[in-house]
Amino acid sequence: MIPPRGTERFLDALQALLGPGHVQQRAEDIAAWTRDWRGRYQGRALALASPGDTAQVAEIVQLCAAHGVAVVPQGGNTGLVGGATPDASGQQLLLSLRRLNRIREISPADGVIVAEAGCILHSVQEAADGQGMLFPLSLAAEGSATIGGVLSTNAGGTAVLRYGNARSLCLGLEVVTARGEVWNGLSSLRKDNTGYDLRDLFIGAEGTLGLITAASLQLFARPRAQRTALAQLAHAGDAVALFELARGALDAGLTGFELMSAHSLRLVAQHFPQLARPFELEAAWCVLLELSDSESEEHAQQRLEHLLGDALERGLVRDAAVAQSLAQADAMWALREHIPLAQAQEGLNIKHDISVPISRMAAFVEGTAELVLQALPGARLIVFGHLGDGNLHYNVQAPAGADGPGFLARHQDLCNRIVHDAAAACGGSFSAEHGVGQLKTPELARYKSPVALELMRAVKAALDPQGLFNPGKVLPGGATREPGA
Ligand SMILES: Cc1cc2nc3c(=O)[nH]c(=O)nc-3n(C[C@H](O)[C@H](O)[C@H](O)COP(=O)(O)OP(=O)(O)OC[C@H]3O[C@@H](n4cnc5c(N)ncnc54)[C@H](O)[C@@H]3O)c2cc1C
Repeated sequence: MIPPRGTERFLDALQALLGPGHVQQRAEDIAAWTRDWRGRYQGRALALASPGDTAQVAEIVQLCAAHGVAVVPQGGNTGLVGGATPDASGQQLLLSLRRLNRIREISPADGVIVAEAGCILHSVQEAADGQGMLFPLSLAAEGSATIGGVLSTNAGGTAVLRYGNARSLCLGLEVVTARGEVWNGLSSLRKDNTGYDLRDLFIGAEGTLGLITAASLQLFARPRAQRTALAQLAHAGDAVALFELARGALDAGLTGFELMSAHSLRLVAQHFPQLARPFELEAAWCVLLELSDSESEEHAQQRLEHLLGDALERGLVRDAAVAQSLAQADAMWALREHIPLAQAQEGLNIKHDISVPISRMAAFVEGTAELVLQALPGARLIVFGHLGDGNLHYNVQAPAGADGPGFLARHQDLCNRIVHDAAAACGGSFSAEHGVGQLKTPELARYKSPVALELMRAVKAALDPQGLFNPGKVLPGGATREPGA
């Protein structure tokens, strides 16, 4: 703990640096930020500091290093693993990057946008669109998630199949290091083989290695046309077969392939009855496909109808509907995007964000359902996700009428073991896109090899020797420093 007088001196210096309006200390003023989006973690903070530019971020880090105060960086606070929530000590500084929200540059010639860390993802998409270009990263939290956050969690979303995740879209970074120095790596180069890739160390590091203050991001040509379809299928294996058929027929034009279980869509219907559905749900699974086409709307429509006709003939698909307008396509995507919101309204459930090779997907889905239901009879499975990326959100809800929080408290460990062991047995990962944060540090300890853990600790020690940045996140044990030491 830093002694009270040391705390006062630190806070005085912080206020002198940022101005009192940008240092908030009262717990009630910062309550929205000391708690995670799902309400699973409640922390306390010494203060919430909101710097306005990179130089101020660097000065804050220097101040924190001098006083031994740990820093918890935060963007939109939409993360799902408690990575942006401070611990309960009340001694960590919550550092909001949201005021760093300028688009510094857009270059259609280079196909690059340089955005500060606090830019909201949707505003970057809009800025690209304004130049007739596409920034393809897209996820349901895009109205609040920030560029710093999506890069720090290496977010995925719905367009990974064609464009890759946040890491693939990032060309360069500006980072404040644990010594309070600024590394300007805002490159716009596609090719640069000049030693270790520092950018890749900070992406996906969840704020444990450095503070991202800006990024140069890749832009793409906007597709001429897009077509969206929904299909109903009886088995998860049919969805995998449909994916293979679609990939063969549409190639790089296939920009989305999302799987949704009937139960997840029933939750959406229950909590968001105003959302339009193209057909009555009769089968166990639904797939949402998106085709991006470089020719025309008609061409896209024909290709998608041809594919679905073929799939119907092969008996893979029970029923299918192709959106006839942008509004219908948006309505189909809205069903998918409201699943996380519907399950949040339904109450707590046991969440998993696994990935497996696509060839093992059907075996994983069917085998794991059997194991979960054997162990937890009556449990309801909310399974949905980016099948085309081999990534599923495999969430387990209490049996109908049972107490949700009690179910979570009693069965979470067992359920994690079943689902994560099943993913590992298929050569998969326990965290495909949400990261590790504080929720999954025990899983990292269990599933990473000792060699991988040692290398990760070595990187942390080299870049953040004082253990200043987001202690207790990502790395199990050993990463937490003594505050005030
Ligand atoms: C409804 C909903 C849908 C979602 N869908 C998806 C999805 O499809 N795919 C997906 O991958 N994720 C998804 N997420 C998770 C979440 O949106 C992402 O993790 C997002 O990338 C977090 O961005 P943020 O700005 O809110 O970051 P925060 O939640 O504020 O922070 C996330 C992590 O990054 C660190 N951090 C934040 N900013 C910085 C910075 N500038 N420098 C260093 N570290 C930083 C934090 O300390 C924390 O560890 C979803 C979340 C919600 C609520």
